This record gives sequence, C-alpha cells and structure tokens, in this order.
Amino acid sequence: MGRDPPRQLPLDYPMKDTTLPWYKDGLRFKCTGCGKCCTGSPGYVWINESEIKALSEYLNIAPEEFVRRYTHKLGGRLSLKEDPNNFDCVFLKSNCCTVYDNRPQQCRTFPWWNENLKSRQAWAETAARCEGVDHPDSTLISLGEIEKHSK
Ligand code: SF4
Ligand code: SF4
Repeated sequence: MGRDPPRQLPLDYPMKDTTLPWYKDGLRFKCTGCGKCCTGSPGYVWINESEIKALSEYLNIAPEEFVRRYTHKLGGRLSLKEDPNNFDCVFLKSNCCTVYDNRPQQCRTFPWWNENLKSRQAWAETAARCEGVDHPDSTLISLGEIEKHSK
C-alpha cells in the first residue's frame, strides 16, 4: 500500500518567494548618453575573463596586453583604469564609450543593479546621479524587462 503524501511541510522547507518588488508596475528610464556614469568620481568597473577576451578581440590586441594597458588590480580583481585627474573611464572619449558594443556587463546592466532597486529611496538616489532615470522622455520599462536587463 502506498504512503499518504506528507500533509505538512517541514518548517525549514524552502518556499518560493512570490512577493512582487516595489517596482512591479515598471520603472522609467532612458539613457541620454550624457556619459556621467563613466566619469565624475572614483569608481570601479569590474571585468572578468570573458569580457577581457571580447574586448581584446575587438581592439585586436592580446588579452595580456589589454590587462596591462587598460586594467588595474583591486582587492584581487581587475577593474578598468580611470584618468586620475577627472576619473574618466579609460574608454570614455568625448563623453562616449569607445567600446560600447563590447562594454562590460556592469555597464550593460546599469541602472538595474540590486543596490539601485532595493528601495524607492535607492532608486531616487540613482536618479540624482543619472539623468536617464525618471527622465521626462523616458519610457516605462516593465518588471519583466527590468529582470531581463539586470541579469
Ligand atoms: S548617467 Fe545615466 S543617462 Fe547618463 S550615460 Fe549614464 S546611464 Fe545614460
Ligand atoms: S566601459 Fe564604456 S560604458 Fe563602461 S564605464 Fe567605461 S566608458 Fe562607460
């Protein structure tokens, strides 16, 4: 005879979180290309092995040369270099990213970072740094799109 299925889940059973985030109705954003997120204050653009490979191929140089010319080590990780005088990212020229199609994941996923999405307050603080957030000409980005962009 078969056993009855358990009727009561153990207290530590991992339940799927079905709570929708505060931005469930979407958020407004449109990048104006102002370039401010690539300069202005000291920052880090973390770069991994596959991104180094893609960028070196794009720039037609060896990965080792890419690492030497464009990155520096911080806490055991590699970050793109920046101009020590104005904090421009090494790839920012005339307010434009010169490697845009191959820019690192960190750049691609801005502003959809967990730290920016964790609360309305955090999103408002992001808007103070990025004119594309809640810009008057911005479009509504749905929850599904936000989740896709943030990966
Ligand atoms: S600061 Fe915002 S609007 Fe300006 S380039 Fe960066 S993402 Fe785009
Ligand atoms: S790689 Fe391009 S998008 Fe990323 S910080 Fe540098 S200039 Fe900006």
